[in-house]
Amino acid sequence: MEDINPRNIDSFMRLVGDAARPVIVTHAKPDGDAIGSSVAMYHFLRMAGKSHVRLVLNDRYPAFLDFIASQVPEEDIIIHDVAPGPAEMAIRESDLILCLDFHAFHRTRNLESYLAGSKAAKVLADHHLDPDRSLYAVSFSETAISSASELVYQILMATPVIAGDASRIPAAAALAMMAGMTTDTNNLNNSVYPSTLEMASELLRCGVDRDLILRKINQEHSEDRLRLKGYMLKDLLQVTEDGVAYMVLDREAQRKYRMKEGDTEGFVNEPLSIGKVRMSIFAREEDSEIRISIRSKNGTSANRCAGLFFNGGGHENAAGGKLLMPVGEVEEYIRKHTHIYMTEYEDKK
Ligand code: 5GP
Ligand code: MN
Repeated sequence: MEDINPRNIDSFMRLVGDAARPVIVTHAKPDGDAIGSSVAMYHFLRMAGKSHVRLVLNDRYPAFLDFIASQVPEEDIIIHDVAPGPAEMAIRESDLILCLDFHAFHRTRNLESYLAGSKAAKVLADHHLDPDRSLYAVSFSETAISSASELVYQILMATPVIAGDASRIPAAAALAMMAGMTTDTNNLNNSVYPSTLEMASELLRCGVDRDLILRKINQEHSEDRLRLKGYMLKDLLQVTEDGVAYMVLDREAQRKYRMKEGDTEGFVNEPLSIGKVRMSIFAREEDSEIRISIRSKNGTSANRCAGLFFNGGGHENAAGGKLLMPVGEVEEYIRKHTHIYMTEYEDKK
């Protein structure tokens, strides 16, 4: 964690000290880690004496993340899809923008042009590959870490206010970071480092309710969601000769199962339980594109495949992207291109 050094922490604290209207932004389609890291940063800024802090999101987070987001007063969260004017205004008027859990402005979708046009000092805290450091006054970029939530935890711990004593972290921030880390690691199943478990024990010691987090994440979904999962695994799942599993979910099935945002979170991991599967792809038809999620086992790069064939990227074993084609053509595209990927790129490494 080279970026978490006294010089960067000092610059970060100075920027926070000088800011009157800090704004926190994160990637579009915010997941648990995006919301968790943002809510934690919000509470840190409040603790640091900032009375006017706003969290600006491109679009609404899934309902099951309410237990994290509701730790921030509703009026301090501005959602571009709901209120584009106020979202633009908040960014335009901000004098410090904290960019969490994304490596490039385009990952914030509609907020991209506001960010690019803003002259405010910006701070990056992200765990993806290859951010453009020149855009930020301070960059905390670390890929050997579980999540943006853990990165924010490590940053906070290094500040003079917290000074390595986790019990000084506001309770709402502690809950948010534990929840964000838990979702991004699929409950400590992947991307876990010694520092991740240290963070988890420290936060547990400070009283974070892990049972509540697990209940909210795993046990409060709809019946429709489980039926949809059953349908996908039984009727949609295909496994190719190359050890690639894929599922293509069209709008009709989404309607039939009354799918809500966030309902398919994590489904892409399931096919990795099959021994011969090295990579799993989930394609979902959306309004203007086919959204792609990719997961891979160690030794196979989801990130490279996403970059080469799916207009995206991410982490080594968890990546995403998009396709612009009718849903009827997606299956053929996946078969063909994953065959090329597994035989031409992976097997010739
Ligand atoms: P998910 O499958 O959960 O939507 O995304 C997994 C990871 O892939 C995310 O943490 C993010 O790093 C990355 N990712 C998802 N969509 C995109 C995309 O469109 N472009 C890039 N560069 N990365 C993405
Ligand atoms: Mn993340």
